[in-house]
Amino acid sequence: MVPFLDLKAINAKYREELVAAATRVIDSGWYIQGIEVKAFEQEFADYCGSKHCIGVANGLDALTLTLRAWKEMGKLKEGDEVIVPANTYIASILAITENRLKPVLVEPDEATFNLCPEKTAAAITPNTKAIVAVHLYGQISPMPELMKLADKHGLLVLEDAAQAHGACIDGRKAGSWGHAAGFSFYPGKNLGALGDAGAVTTDDEDLARTIRALGNYGSHKKYENLYQGVNSRLDEMQAAMLRIKLRHLDEEIQSRRKVAEYYLARIDNPSIQLPSVGKRKSHVWHLFVVRCEQRDALQKHLAEQGVQTLIHYPIAPHQQSAYSEWRSLRFPLTEKIHEQVLSLPTGPLIDGDSLKYIVGLIEDIAR
Ligand SMILES: *Cc1c(COP(=O)(O)O)cnc(C)c1O
Repeated sequence: MVPFLDLKAINAKYREELVAAATRVIDSGWYIQGIEVKAFEQEFADYCGSKHCIGVANGLDALTLTLRAWKEMGKLKEGDEVIVPANTYIASILAITENRLKPVLVEPDEATFNLCPEKTAAAITPNTKAIVAVHLYGQISPMPELMKLADKHGLLVLEDAAQAHGACIDGRKAGSWGHAAGFSFYPGKNLGALGDAGAVTTDDEDLARTIRALGNYGSHKKYENLYQGVNSRLDEMQAAMLRIKLRHLDEEIQSRRKVAEYYLARIDNPSIQLPSVGKRKSHVWHLFVVRCEQRDALQKHLAEQGVQTLIHYPIAPHQQSAYSEWRSLRFPLTEKIHEQVLSLPTGPLIDGDSLKYIVGLIEDIAR
């Protein structure tokens, strides 16, 4: 049996370090807003190459609180249009609608699954105020072009970097391109905590201060509340776990790149469309996603031979019951992507025999 991702094995590799860090937190007697969070925020900001990092409870909150902060700062208002790829994970869109902003769904670039400058430019109206650039599957969006477009039209750019810790263009990492970026440290992400966790990175000090307050009941100062905030904080235990995992992130990305390179070099079946990559460092391979017209049959065949695969994602956001008002909208490319994508097992620890086995199975299916 080849599991999709063996999280237990990934964390077992660092067990001693994780246990020592957990013990340190338990023995400290201090569990919220202490030295571990502060240290992780500094280390992650340094890793991304941004000035500030604000720990929050999860990736969705990172996105939601950033948009909310821009509203509190007077940079966005209810009803403003926010461009977002139509094929993203639903969280990117929930963050927009939670703030009563208007998502404008845009078809992605077929080769990369990310926003492309041309289709994004075509969707801009006088009401457009922001772009959520999602680095889907671990590949960074074309940030130089998107930032140029945003500058030209005076738009805010929020990176949804939940799947792309460490991905870069010309040495500049995800999280340092937009006016802000939201990260998730959900356990299965490339940088995963041992529970829920998230963060925002930004160079904007006012934004950082506002997000920090919003996530702490709207309070800048104990018992003084500027906003009707929420409770969304990264806790000491998860921060301590993340500090360990961050030290190993780059070597894990290297291992993921080797897996991807293996698949890319060995899968050669005309019925399988391989993912397309720009520069080598632009992709951190959170997911290795192929396309196949007979996707369901392929998934079934692999499952019967003991290979677990997943679909990211089976239902497009505009076809979800949660957004029934969008049912009549049509996004042909996005819909086709949702019918055809399949994520193969990947991760930092998958072994050579498993990879060889998977490739063999895929090479043997009907061409
Ligand atoms: C995982 C993910 C999120 C949400 O992160 P959580 O920590 O699960 O709230 C947002 N956007 C994308 C693209 C994601 O993959």
